[in-house]
Amino acid sequence: MTTPAPVRALLLSLAAAAACSRIPADDTGRAMPQGAQIREPVDPAPAVAAPCGGGRTMTVRFYDVGQGLSALVTLPDGRNVLVDAGDSPNRTGCGEACEVASTHLRASLRRDLAGRPIDLLWITHPHSDHAGGAPEILAEFAVRAYVDNGRDENGPEVQRARRAALARGVPVRVVDPDRRDLPLRPGPDVTVTPVVPPAWPPSCRHDANECSIGLRVDFCSSSVLLTGDAEHAEERLLDIGSPVSLLQIAHHGSDTSTSPALLARAHPRYAVISAGKPGVGLNREYCHPRALVVRRLTRVLGGPGQGAIEAFDGDRCDRAVPSDWIAVPASDRLWATERDGDVALVTTGDGTFRRER
Ligand SMILES: [Zn+2]
Repeated sequence: MTTPAPVRALLLSLAAAAACSRIPADDTGRAMPQGAQIREPVDPAPAVAAPCGGGRTMTVRFYDVGQGLSALVTLPDGRNVLVDAGDSPNRTGCGEACEVASTHLRASLRRDLAGRPIDLLWITHPHSDHAGGAPEILAEFAVRAYVDNGRDENGPEVQRARRAALARGVPVRVVDPDRRDLPLRPGPDVTVTPVVPPAWPPSCRHDANECSIGLRVDFCSSSVLLTGDAEHAEERLLDIGSPVSLLQIAHHGSDTSTSPALLARAHPRYAVISAGKPGVGLNREYCHPRALVVRRLTRVLGGPGQGAIEAFDGDRCDRAVPSDWIAVPASDRLWATERDGDVALVTTGDGTFRRER
């Protein structure tokens, strides 16, 4: 329906009069005092979703436990997941190195947990350099749940660890190809996912490394994949999901892991090798990390940076001579506990990590 011409003319004249008037009106249409500002109508701000992470951080700490692994993931809500527990302080053949490493790990955890519990103790596989230190952790710290892969249940490491858990009333759970539930509730902006193959590979029967249970933690755009000692693992770790920001290098930088296929799939931006110093403790027997792996990782991480990592470049560890250990130019986004000691990496969830210490 159109407005009749006389009415339209009246409306136009009223509008013109209002436009010429020097007396502003407020939102209610009442006259405002002279000099008052006219406020332009403001559209309500569009609803903006809070940024993922909300300013919180996730920290991944790789402790210098010599030839072994222990890494603490502190989730943005303050809960803690400890992946592996280093070696037993009394490991035969390790000498003082294992005792020193165990003392260091427990002191570091006292500082970093600051009285909070370990919400999940995750043992990737039953080898002593991962499970051997679990009884000492369970004896000293409050642990909410203990998980292993259910392998080698009659072996001394698993028996000692499980006994220690049960003695403290800690629930013992198995995660394996048939049981993937985590005893850890989801948190805001955080997903914790077991990385377990559809079935154990046949090689698992004679090589415990092959049945390592991995753990992936995603926090907004940042992620970390902890692989334990998974070897020749690319065919099963290919199911890791999307690429990861931070990769724990499997099996201490051995050349039986970290294949080009795995790196192509994981495409990490940062990586950490947990290994002992050359010729110290049990690394005398293993010679980790291998130069080949440091070079391969450095290529994937964008090329050499400022430093180098000492790595084994010989044929056989049991015939190692000092000249087999060489300084390999390494990426600045690759750390090794043998060189760097503890490595603590923090992320706000934006896909980047920065070293805290
Ligand atoms: Zn190991």
